[in-house]
Parts: sequence; C-alpha cells; structure tokens
Amino acid sequence: MSTVFIISAPSGSGKSTLVKRLMEKDLDRGESRLQFSVSFTTRAPREGEVEGEHYCFISVKEFQRLRDADELLESAEVFGNYYGTSRAILRKAEAAGQDLILDIDVQGAAQLKQRLDQAVSIFILPPSRQVLESRLRNRSSDSDEVIQRRLEEASNEIEEYGKYDYLLINDNLDASFEQLRGIILAERCRTKRALDQVKKIVDSFATEVKR
Ligand code: ADP
Ligand code: 5GP
Repeated sequence: MSTVFIISAPSGSGKSTLVKRLMEKDLDRGESRLQFSVSFTTRAPREGEVEGEHYCFISVKEFQRLRDADELLESAEVFGNYYGTSRAILRKAEAAGQDLILDIDVQGAAQLKQRLDQAVSIFILPPSRQVLESRLRNRSSDSDEVIQRRLEEASNEIEEYGKYDYLLINDNLDASFEQLRGIILAERCRTKRALDQVKKIVDSFATEVKR
C-alpha cells in the first residue's frame, strides 16, 4: 500500500531543499520506496529546472484539458499560475508499491486530504518572518516585487498550519532533515500501513500450527 506524504510550506521555508535531500539519501536502504510527484504547472521554467524532473511545464489550455478530463488529483492557482498533481503518478506509485511525496500548496493539500484521508500531511515553518525573508533574498531567484508577494502570501499560508498532521520548524537543516525522515519511517510502521507485510508473517504461524 502506498502512503502519500503531502508537504506544504511558505515559499522559501526550505521545502525543496529538504525534499531533494530526501530523494538523494538512501532512506530505504537501496529499495527506493519513495517517489517524488512531479506536478504539472503553467509557469515558465526557472533556470536549471528540468522538464519532467522538477515539473511538467504545460500551457494553460493543456492544463484545462487535464483538469476537465479529471486527470488531476488536485489543482490550484498559486502566484498567478496553475499547478496540479497527476492522478497517473499516484496510480503508478501504487502499482510499484512506492510511497509518494508531494510538494503542494495549502489549497491543494486541503483538497487531497478530503480525497485521500490516509494521506500524511507535513507543514514546514521557517523560524521567523525575518529568516524567511533573508532566505528568499539569499536564494536570489526572484525580484524584489516577487519576494514581497511571497512574504505576503506566507502570512496567509502560515495560518493553515493547524490543519496538518505534523509541523516541522526548519531552523537547522540537518535536524529538520532527520525529523522529516523520522516522520516518514514512523508512518510506515503504523499497523494499518504494514498490514500486507504482517499478514505474511501471521500466515506463516498459522501454517506451522496446522502441521
Ligand atoms: P522552498 O522550496 O520552500 O521555496 P528552498 O528549499 O528553495 O525553499 O529554500 C530557500 C533558501 O533557503 C535556499 O537558498 C536554501 O538553500 C535555504 N535554506 C533552506 N533550508 C535552510 C536552513 N535550514 N538553513 C539555512 N538556509 C536554508
Ligand atoms: P514554485 O513555483 O515556487 O515551484 O511553487 C509555488 C507553489 O506551488 C509552492 O507552494 C508549491 O508547493 C506549489 N505547488 C507545486 N506543485 C503543486 C501542485 O501540483 N499542486 C498545488 N496545489 N500546488 C503546487
């Protein structure tokens, strides 16, 4: 059974950095049971972003077609662009027995929690507004105007933190990474999620008794 991990955070909190580490580190001891959900977006690629790896970059028309065909698990408009999660990606992860990690905004997270009540949601908070601003400035990927908009939006997004299953304050990066890893590994041990594996063990005992 696949577990869906939803990660949301105000822009600049360190979500991409943490998710990237999660995908690079050998979290699964070589089994690679974690798959990143590559979203559709109508925004233009940033420098260094790779089609199919960071996002699938599509036109507004194509986005509307996917949404109308019910090919999106959730969708939202963020900073004037459309974003959406592919339904096909979840189907593929389920078929391959992989867990899925989603980097989506608070609107998309709320939609998904309604549809998939077993999904695990994690909200990443920056240590303060000042730290968030300096991270956005140091990242140097946005203009002053865009940074200002992202900070204003952060105030709205942060109000949603109470709806998430887990909160992670991204102060020290190494500590935050360990917490994120801990959440994922612990969630996989929940009785309801481990049923397939456990059933085999329990059945082996039943066979032994019959002999
Ligand atoms: P997001 O994906 O949430 O928009 P990023 O992962 O791009 O944010 O991080 C924003 C900036 O902050 C990047 O330059 C990143 O290197 C830096 N950063 C992320 N986490 C930390 C941390 N714990 N301490 C210091 N800098 C961080
Ligand atoms: P960015 O353009 O900076 O990569 O992302 C902007 C925001 O869109 C972030 O909050 C990110 O989590 C969110 N986002 C990315 N993909 C999706 C998606 O598929 N659905 C939704 N709802 N939000 C997304």
